[in-house]
Amino acid sequence: MSELIQEYVDSGNQRLRVDRAAGVIRGVKLLGLSSRNGRRYREDALVDAVGLYEGTKVNINHPKGHPLSPRDYRDRLGVVRGVEFRAGVAVGGTAPGSLPARTLVEEFDAVAITAGSEHPRDLAVPGRELDGVHFAMDFLPLQNRRVAGDADVPPLSAHGKHVVVIGGGDTGSDCVGTSNRQGATSIVQFELLPQPPEHENKPLVWPYWPIKMRTSTSHEEGCDRDWAVQTKAFRGERGKVKALVACRVDWKDGKLHDVPGSEFELKADLVLFAMGYVHPVHEGMLDELGVKYDARGNVAADTECYQTSTPKVFAAGDTRRGQSLVVWAIREGRQCARAIDEFLMGASELPR
Ligand SMILES: Cc1cc2nc3c(=O)[nH]c(=O)nc-3n(C[C@H](O)[C@H](O)[C@H](O)COP(=O)(O)OP(=O)(O)OC[C@H]3O[C@@H](n4cnc5c(N)ncnc54)[C@H](O)[C@@H]3O)c2cc1C
Repeated sequence: MSELIQEYVDSGNQRLRVDRAAGVIRGVKLLGLSSRNGRRYREDALVDAVGLYEGTKVNINHPKGHPLSPRDYRDRLGVVRGVEFRAGVAVGGTAPGSLPARTLVEEFDAVAITAGSEHPRDLAVPGRELDGVHFAMDFLPLQNRRVAGDADVPPLSAHGKHVVVIGGGDTGSDCVGTSNRQGATSIVQFELLPQPPEHENKPLVWPYWPIKMRTSTSHEEGCDRDWAVQTKAFRGERGKVKALVACRVDWKDGKLHDVPGSEFELKADLVLFAMGYVHPVHEGMLDELGVKYDARGNVAADTECYQTSTPKVFAAGDTRRGQSLVVWAIREGRQCARAIDEFLMGASELPR
C-alpha cells in the first residue's frame, strides 16, 4: 500500500472522506480533494483508497489526467461501492476453472448466495433422451445472446419445426413467443391442469393469486393451447424426436387419472420443457457450502437475518424462496444486504 493511500485510510472521519472521494470519482470535482496536510491526492490514489477502505481488490487502469468516459464512470461506480465483478466464474462443481465454494467462506467475511432456482422439472418418459427434447432454459437464453450480437451461439432454433411446449406458465409462454419469432411451422402448448375459468372466483381466492385464464401477447401471436394433457412418450428417427405421445387426464379428489382410450400422437421436431423449477441446484456450490435446505429444497434462511445454517453464508432471491419474480429478488437482495451490514457492523442504516 502506498504511503499516500495509507495516510488516506488511516486518517480520521473515513466515511466522510470516502463520500467525498466518491464525489470526485463521479466527476463532481475531478482532481483536487486535499489531505489534512494540504497535499492533493491523485485521482487514481483516491480510487484505490476507496477500494481499500471498502475491503475490495481494485484493478483500475486509467491513464492519469484523462477525462472520464461514461464507461469509466460505470466501472468506477462499482469500485466506489466496493464491488468487483467477475463474470464467467462458476462457484463450486467440477467444471474447468470453477472456484471452490469453500474459498469464498475462507476469504470473505460474509457470502450472499443469490444463485436463482435453476433445477428444472424433468419428465422421465420413454424417448426423453432423443435429440430435440430440451429444457426451456437450454433454448430461451440463446435468443437473448443472438439479439445481443454474441458470436458462436449454438444453432438450436424453432425455425421450420413443429414445436411442442410442455407447461402452461410464463416460461412456456416465452417459449411460444420465441418459437413464433424464429419461424416455427406449428406450435402446441400443453398444460397438465384443466383449463382455468375466464374470470376468477374473487370471494374464494382473495387475497391470493387468482386462478383464471391468462393469455399473453405470445399466445396472441399464435399457438394451439391444450389443457389436461399428460405426455407419455417421445418417438424418434435416427436419434431425433419426431413425435410426442400424450393422453387426456382427469383430476379426481386431487389425483390425476389417465382418460382411457384418449391417447394421441402429435408431430414434434422440437419439444421444450417449461414445467417449472423444483429448487436451486444442490450439486456443486450449495452442497459444498453445506447449507441446509427447507422442505421444498430451497436454501433455508428466514427473511429477518437471511442467514443459512452455514456461518457467514446468507441466501436471498429465488435460491431462498424458490422460482419467483424479479420484484421479490430485488426486495430480498436489499433486505439481505442490510442483514449482512448488521452482521458485519452491528447496526445498519440501509433501508429494509
Ligand atoms: C424463462 C423465465 C422467464 C421469467 N420471466 C419473468 C418475468 O417476466 N417477470 C418476472 O418478474 N420474473 C420472471 N422470471 C423469474 C425471474 O427471472 C426470477 O425470479 C429472478 O431472476 C430471480 O432473481 P435471482 O437474482 O434470485 O436469481 P437469477 O436471476 O436466476 O440469478 C442467478 C444467477 O446466479 C448464477 N449462478 C447460479 N449458480 C451459480 C454458481 N454456482 N456460480 C456462479 N454463478 C451462479 C446464474 O448464472 C444467474 O446469473 C422468469 C424466469 C424464467 C426462467
